[in-house]
Amino acid sequence: MTLINVLDERLINKIAAGEVIERPASVVKELVENSIDAGATQIDVTIEDYGKRLIKVTDNGSGMPEEDAKISILRHTTSKIKNDDDLYNINTLGFRGEALASIAAVSHLTISTKTDSTIEGFKIEVEGGKVVGNSAAGVPKGTIIEVRDLFFNTPARLKFMKTDTNELKHIVDIVTRYALINPKVSIRLQHNGHSLVNSPTSEDMLNNISSIYGNDVAKQLLEVKYEDINVYVTGYISKPSLLKSDKSMQSLYVNGRYVKDDTVEKALYDAYHTLLFVDRHPVVILNIRVDPTVIDVNIHPTKEKVKFEQASKIYDSIFNSVRQTLLENSLITDFSSLDSSEQAILEEKKPEKPKAEIRREKGYIYISKENQTFVLPDVQPSEAEMYSAGLLSKSEWKEKKLQKGNAKLPDMRLVGQVMKTFFLAETAEGLLIIDQHVVQERVLYERYMGQYMNKSISHQSLLSPLVVEVPPEDSVFLQANIDQVKSFGFDAEHFGDNSFTLRAVPSIFEKVETKQAFMDLVSELSANKSLSMEMKQEDIITRMACRASIKAGDDVTIPYMEGLLKELDACTLPYTCPHGRPIFIRFTLDDLEKMFRRK
Ligand code: ADP
Ligand code: MG
Repeated sequence: MTLINVLDERLINKIAAGEVIERPASVVKELVENSIDAGATQIDVTIEDYGKRLIKVTDNGSGMPEEDAKISILRHTTSKIKNDDDLYNINTLGFRGEALASIAAVSHLTISTKTDSTIEGFKIEVEGGKVVGNSAAGVPKGTIIEVRDLFFNTPARLKFMKTDTNELKHIVDIVTRYALINPKVSIRLQHNGHSLVNSPTSEDMLNNISSIYGNDVAKQLLEVKYEDINVYVTGYISKPSLLKSDKSMQSLYVNGRYVKDDTVEKALYDAYHTLLFVDRHPVVILNIRVDPTVIDVNIHPTKEKVKFEQASKIYDSIFNSVRQTLLENSLITDFSSLDSSEQAILEEKKPEKPKAEIRREKGYIYISKENQTFVLPDVQPSEAEMYSAGLLSKSEWKEKKLQKGNAKLPDMRLVGQVMKTFFLAETAEGLLIIDQHVVQERVLYERYMGQYMNKSISHQSLLSPLVVEVPPEDSVFLQANIDQVKSFGFDAEHFGDNSFTLRAVPSIFEKVETKQAFMDLVSELSANKSLSMEMKQEDIITRMACRASIKAGDDVTIPYMEGLLKELDACTLPYTCPHGRPIFIRFTLDDLEKMFRRK
């Protein structure tokens, strides 16, 4: 007698379902992916009772011939790959041939489907993996999949589902992700008769994002368009004035597949470095297009992770594309954008948004919606595209890339200081309020950081050397690590016991108590053993820049401020302090006129 049993197909599918179908949202994900793969331009997702009673996905895609529909619910049945080679060259979202079998194993499933080549459709009904009905069906071209009573035969799974609203959140989330990246597909989600997502077909991605996240979000996005050898990065990222308290509005895609990826995420945050306020996160919708043969999409049962052949190249492409976009655009915070940035966006009773009207004229696209019109430059071919198409020579292309450079601050005329804290300036667009402390923080941070990186911190000698006594534990550290302190521009030497002589200090310390600054540096270097040296350095430089800057309450003259602003203009990112607080708030003439009811 053998102890090992060969499991029957239904049990195998039930086990597989445990991996692929974790919750109602997994069903929605698999079905929507199938509809997109089937070339649908209209996908309707209808949910009842948080997905427990019904998940129905209707599409106008290719549909399935009767024979295909019958085998689609078996395990390892797919029309998307045929052989080994195909597995490494996947252009569809699905390929594992597991989803329908898994869903069928743990629910009451009905598939109604019709292709172009038949007059009548076909319907198949399955209960817990067992076919219980086959019949003709009068349905339009496309596929309707109804999943009822999910997990009816896996009580443990049912029990472990989180709260209803949490499950619904996951459903809204996954539908939104696919709606964002498929502007040409109209995607709708309804729960118990309420519309939760309504993304009509759009001409372009920004308009599509606007239909999902609203105009206030869309207005604060910057377009990313980047081309490297065999890597294309396109999409939108938010200005630092539109940050969220979590990462839920970050969607990363690889060849249109929504994925989570640590390398990409790291590159993104590195590129935003110093522009993000603590615990704040940018809105990001980025698609990375690569040759399917250089990624492995078959490393996760729910396909939410991919493996890149060259992760460092992907890191570079994401970092460069995001950084370049941030550098090329003015990132001044608009007053009008401040209140809307934290808006909750996924309220259950979101009203249906009317469709946008799009008009193209003289190089601009006019998008009119809900009595508002916004204007965007009409998409031009990028230089990289022109180069690829042979319209630019290689040297011309390089030249163009160099010319681009950083966005500059607008010309401004200072009109005075307010409360010894802010400066007011007039620009061609309106009024800027400037935080005097933050201006200098950014200037000193970039200057000091630059000098530190080039190992050329400019220092000034003290008229007479200072003797500084440090706590005993710091003294031991300092004697062993005097070079570290020197690299920050302090010329110090051990004098005896716990005393050190200080002969020179970094020039940025015009205004601070040198002794205290030195002692702080030493204690900071010797403490926080868990932090990497790189993080410590940056922390120290940020703190020094803050300490050496003028404060709120300091009297500052207009010429002094003008000098600082000139230096600020030469900075790489003259918009925030190194901790992400804004330097400027802009009131446009339009904002002011509205506030005074002139409009
Ligand atoms: P996979 O997507 O990995 O191929 P699935 O189990 O999700 O596996 O689907 C099995 C097959 O059923 C697909 O390969 C496809 O041929 C067919 N199919 C599933 N859903 C649809 C749909 N909405 N429209 C057309 N064909 C579909
Ligand atoms: Mg599939």
